[in-house]
Amino acid sequence: MASRCPGQDTQFWGPGDIYSIDCPKCGKPVEFFKDDIRRRCKSCGHLFLNPKLDLGCSKWCQYAEQCVGAMSKEEFKEAIVLAIKDYLDGDKERINHCLTVLGFVERILEEEKGNPKVAIAAAALYDIGTKAVGEKPEGRRRIEEEFDSFSEARGILDRSGAGKEVKEEVCRILEKRENFKSTDDLDSRIVHDARRLATLRVDFVASSTFLTPTGRLIAEEFISTK
Ligand SMILES: [Zn+2]
Repeated sequence: MASRCPGQDTQFWGPGDIYSIDCPKCGKPVEFFKDDIRRRCKSCGHLFLNPKLDLGCSKWCQYAEQCVGAMSKEEFKEAIVLAIKDYLDGDKERINHCLTVLGFVERILEEEKGNPKVAIAAAALYDIGTKAVGEKPEGRRRIEEEFDSFSEARGILDRSGAGKEVKEEVCRILEKRENFKSTDDLDSRIVHDARRLATLRVDFVASSTFLTPTGRLIAEEFISTK
């Protein structure tokens, strides 16, 4: 990148753009720059997302994807995972399931040319708002589950620094949950296969039901090792 856009250049920043946030674990102040995705608390080592993350112009700028390319796929994944862990609040079973799915997404992405940020975020957010794995306590339940899960997903995407395009794509995929058969875009198919691979049981495998060649291949490898 030749130069940064003015919104991301620290010489245009004001005094309010660097601030301190109390660590949610130990309460000690941790200094954040407004475009820091996350920082580690020096006192207790807790890694947490910047609650006031502000990528400013990246929310609307057409060059945001390249510009905030400062945020790599790895950083984005880390931010999403932190936000999800936060949301799932220590629910180990669901967190592990999510991490397993993401592992398969990344394996499939090694071969398939999907959009990594879209596939990662959609896979991670896919079960948000569902009670499939582990019933949630009463307090988490809402009347308009579907609507609510969506605003929850959008909030997590915002906190993770997802650009406008990524956010729109992810929400489009989430809207089509339940309806994979009508899905013709690659990112949805990658999410589908990664989720199936994460729950693969040897007594229920038909590799033909996978939607990407790589998903099918991984499933066949799995079967052959049994
Ligand atoms: Zn701390």
